[in-house]
Amino acid sequence: MNENNNKRPSVDLSQCNLCLACVEVYPQVFRLNEAGFVEIIEQSEYPEDEVEDAIKYCPEDCILWE
Ligand code: SF4
Repeated sequence: MNENNNKRPSVDLSQCNLCLACVEVYPQVFRLNEAGFVEIIEQSEYPEDEVEDAIKYCPEDCILWE
């Protein structure tokens, strides 16, 4: 599928339960930072399919495109 340079995933930390499914599904983009929160690893572009998978597996539906 197309890669989209304009879209970037974000995590709504108020909803995140730290299950770390996103980190397991797509560790190139999602990581647990030192403060203990999920964060997005900066990249020039984010492959849409993989991020969509992470969105699908997130039990709290708190991964969004911004
Ligand atoms: S999958 Fe969703 S709830 Fe789980 S750690 Fe990632 S953002 Fe948080």
